[in-house]
Amino acid sequence: MSNFLESVSQNFDKAAALTGLPEGLLAQIKVSNAVYRMNFPVKIGNKYEVIEAYRVQHSHHRSPTKGGIRFSQKVNQEEVEALAALMTYKCALVDVPFGGSKGGVRISPRNYTTAQLQKITRRYTAELIRKNFIGPGIDVPAPDYGTGPREMAWILDTYQSFKGGDIDAAGCVTGKPVSQHGIRGRTEATGRGVYYGVREAMSHKNDMKALGLTVGLGGKSVAIQGFGNVGYYSAKIMSEEGGAKIVCIAEYEGAIYAKDGIDIEGLAKYRKETGTIMDFPGTENLPTRKGIFKVDCDVMVPAALENQITMNNVKQIKAKIVVEAANGPVTADASEYLIKKGVMIIPDMFINAGGVTVSYFEWLKNLSHMRFGRMEKRFNQNTYLNLMKTVEDMTGKKIGAKEKLILTRGADEVDLVRSGLEETMITAYNEIRDVMKRRKKVEDLRTAAFISALNKISSDYLALGIFP
Ligand code: GLU
Repeated sequence: MSNFLESVSQNFDKAAALTGLPEGLLAQIKVSNAVYRMNFPVKIGNKYEVIEAYRVQHSHHRSPTKGGIRFSQKVNQEEVEALAALMTYKCALVDVPFGGSKGGVRISPRNYTTAQLQKITRRYTAELIRKNFIGPGIDVPAPDYGTGPREMAWILDTYQSFKGGDIDAAGCVTGKPVSQHGIRGRTEATGRGVYYGVREAMSHKNDMKALGLTVGLGGKSVAIQGFGNVGYYSAKIMSEEGGAKIVCIAEYEGAIYAKDGIDIEGLAKYRKETGTIMDFPGTENLPTRKGIFKVDCDVMVPAALENQITMNNVKQIKAKIVVEAANGPVTADASEYLIKKGVMIIPDMFINAGGVTVSYFEWLKNLSHMRFGRMEKRFNQNTYLNLMKTVEDMTGKKIGAKEKLILTRGADEVDLVRSGLEETMITAYNEIRDVMKRRKKVEDLRTAAFISALNKISSDYLALGIFP
């Protein structure tokens, strides 16, 4: 078994043993319900290439199933199965009413032109349609490593050309461009969710005291591995809104460090222009990209891929909090080591759930065929304006134009998306924390998160009377 699937399995078993749920039920929850492995030909230049791809539906306890599609040379069946399983637990944890799934196409996107990537994406979608593995009520893909809104628009267009007349077709995929039935706030969602989750975790005074930290994210030093969608938005929002100091950023070309903090917007611009993060003014290059794990910091955020913190490098970690913004970045044994050392690990299935949470909002928007806020924005605005006016009349004082604008604003779609995401992350964190506080044998947040997810999933099965 691959290291990653093995890690997910070990973490599952550790928590499952504490749930008291029937063995058969746990076995049913653990396995992948359906695995579709495909090989299809795509004409690249004047040659045909055979592309290997997967879609795994891990759990049908709820429909549709939900999870991203990864384009990477490292894709294999076990990796996709592990990622699909994490989606099941993630959705349950944050009360997103879906089963988990995941897709993978074994290609390195860097090796193809945009037109070739489009061909591959469309053919992959056609394969899914052929086997009834995609649809707004069946299985709903989204972006993951190596894919983004562009690929999602191609998927939607392919789906629509096969399923003409399906009025809910737009809900067959999420993470689409806003102009193509997407939702505002989806692109930043995982990073923003990371911020809300970390902020909530760090707001508990006694928990922070036990780690030797003061309360709050403000002024804390943070190192982030990965400057893709998740790493970039985590860095940006944690520093801009949370006041954190991002001291180190690592990417596949290397790592950079600045004791007093890196200018994240400046770095994003610099990387766009030069194609690298290295030699960014005001920072020093670290000797290797994995050098990030040796950096002295309060919070370490692996936001790239699985299996990054392993028994080979875990002893280097100086951070008090490890935030799993990627899926599976810490192996199960490295995780045990950190827990024993008293490090707080904020687990992937909770902390990176912001993406799928906002995907859920996008899917709801697609099924309702209307933008959030359209009905109530002006009504609320007018009510607040009337309220202001009454206050002015009663006090005989005028409220300044600027304040009035802030106080009377009705919510736009992006405001509602952020509010829904913030609520989701705060509620889920406190649910997990409560499990940990209540149960003596539970000493880490991952096990607590698993227990919470397993209880929710099992109650669906138990309600069906399949497992007495
Ligand atoms: N790929 C993302 C994840 O791992 C998002 C999935 C989704 O939005 O369905 O959570």
